[in-house]
Amino acid sequence: MNTFFNFFIKSLKQIAKIIEKWYEENKRDLPWRNSPSAYKIWLSEIILQQTRINQGISYYNKFIEKYPAIQQLAQAPIEDVLKLWQGLGYYSRARNLHITARRITNDCNGNFPSDYKELLSLNGIGEYTAAAIASMAFNIPVAVVDGNVFRVLSRLYGIKTGITSAAGKKLFRLKAQEILNHKKPGIHNQAMMELGALICLPRNPLCNQCPLNMRCYAYKYRLVNELPVKKVNGKTRERYFHYLHISYRGSTFIHKRQQKDIWNSLFEFPLIETSHYIYPEKLHETEAWHHLLGETQYKF
Ligand code: SF4
Repeated sequence: MNTFFNFFIKSLKQIAKIIEKWYEENKRDLPWRNSPSAYKIWLSEIILQQTRINQGISYYNKFIEKYPAIQQLAQAPIEDVLKLWQGLGYYSRARNLHITARRITNDCNGNFPSDYKELLSLNGIGEYTAAAIASMAFNIPVAVVDGNVFRVLSRLYGIKTGITSAAGKKLFRLKAQEILNHKKPGIHNQAMMELGALICLPRNPLCNQCPLNMRCYAYKYRLVNELPVKKVNGKTRERYFHYLHISYRGSTFIHKRQQKDIWNSLFEFPLIETSHYIYPEKLHETEAWHHLLGETQYKF
């Protein structure tokens, strides 16, 4: 038993060592990797949740140029932050960015908490981002589990549990934590994510160049295209947005979205939303049209 246990631990350590060595030799030169700080790591992770790396770099640089420190981001009007965020979509992330910057500045003297659970309590910081900040900025041994890590682990160990199921999430988290190098958690986490981003690609992974190919279950059993197992859960809802461009004496009507919904607080043309497609010429028959225009005289 002891022999097996020792072999098992040795094997985990070897995998960690291989990935980290590969990372040191192949990592991309990304701006937040130079002189990393909790602020830079946090900012980059929030931006990268919304976009691919190339576009993310330009957003990151714009934010750092305008707000080199978290205090400057905290003091900025939310409208300016939203403007800088423009194009990334999902604006609640930008709003949470601002709320958290204020909280860190006002309550924590501008310093991110170095505790994983405290990080989790901040707006817009979920398990993934908290683990990234904790491990990369504070060397706390918490494994990061993002899409890249799911993929690498699933293929490496032949895990067939769906990554979107609760059981799958738990299993992958445990596995990621198991192989984590507790001495260098930040480097290890980045190495796992980088391997997934550059080599263990969703389609046509570069197995011939992969430092783990001799140990990879999916490679050995030709299951690379079958793993990870994804199951779509949750329902999608179709929404149809019909915008009205209304002009009156040289002015155009716009309004600010107030509902707890997408694009909250952003400006838009008057909107009629329906749950099914409606021909534009039929819009005036809807209740929303009458609610919006009432008895107002108009011409098309
Ligand atoms: S050998 Fe291929 S499938 Fe396995 S971890 Fe490497 S890139 Fe991914």
